[in-house]
Amino acid sequence: MKKYILILAVLFFSSCATAPRHPPAPTAPPPKPAVPHAPVSLPSQPAPVPSRRDVTHVVAPGETVAMLSQMYDVPAGSIVSANHLKKSAALSSGRSLIIPQASAARSIIPLFPNKKWKYIIVHHSATQEGDSLAFNQYHLKRGFVGGVGYDFVIDNGTLSKVDGQIEATPRWLKQQEGRHCKASHMNQKAIGVCLVGNFNQGKMTEHQMEALVYLVEILCRYYKIPEKHILGHGKVPEADTDCPGKAFPWQEFHNRLKSTDVSGMPHGTGSTEPLIKLKGSLVQSQPSFKMDGRVGTH
Ligand SMILES: [Zn+2]
Repeated sequence: MKKYILILAVLFFSSCATAPRHPPAPTAPPPKPAVPHAPVSLPSQPAPVPSRRDVTHVVAPGETVAMLSQMYDVPAGSIVSANHLKKSAALSSGRSLIIPQASAARSIIPLFPNKKWKYIIVHHSATQEGDSLAFNQYHLKRGFVGGVGYDFVIDNGTLSKVDGQIEATPRWLKQQEGRHCKASHMNQKAIGVCLVGNFNQGKMTEHQMEALVYLVEILCRYYKIPEKHILGHGKVPEADTDCPGKAFPWQEFHNRLKSTDVSGMPHGTGSTEPLIKLKGSLVQSQPSFKMDGRVGTH
């Protein structure tokens, strides 16, 4: 892993919003910051003082202690000792771990130098519930070697995940080809992003939209993917599907993508050193997800 550039893009979630058509709240929401905070990455700003508490985390496929450490801003050693883990042992997905004195959950988006990613294909799960763990189990049952077929899953607050949480799957972490779009050989050259939900029947949540724009922006910038190469599954030549749903808000998505300012985001350079670490805002309510002033180098 050390030869890869590991760039961690993080964003903070609030737990106050749920999709109008999906009344159940997340079962394990993260602790909320006590008060809104200024951007944390500017040297002149005081360090954030998020409220912390012990939380239970259900391990997603491919997650490591190092990732959880970043996700909750907790030293890896604290997670290891709180759960009596062997340091070198891999975490088994589906296992529950105690994260002591966790900060609000943040998405971890590792970026790896790789020239093969030319497209982004957007999917919906066509289910009301889901997360990377659930899709992994489902896809393994269907015989998908390597499990969950997407590279990223954007959660809707069901199961144990937070609304708008972005999960990188094992397929992405290993930079393996996808199992999400056979048409036009997209599995070999496209990053598959799946939003949990059925957008033939309902809408994505606001937090999912923010997360999608954020993720796509990072991927396009890093892998130099043009906007015209962001396709819905059903728009891929030879694909016979209405995924990601007839009600997918393409116009809104493209409008937001155009208005997102990501100055300071990473470009792929082939360097072997970490370039940048991104931090999202700690402001709990984030009606519009602007990157301005929320990105800094470390
Ligand atoms: Zn699809």
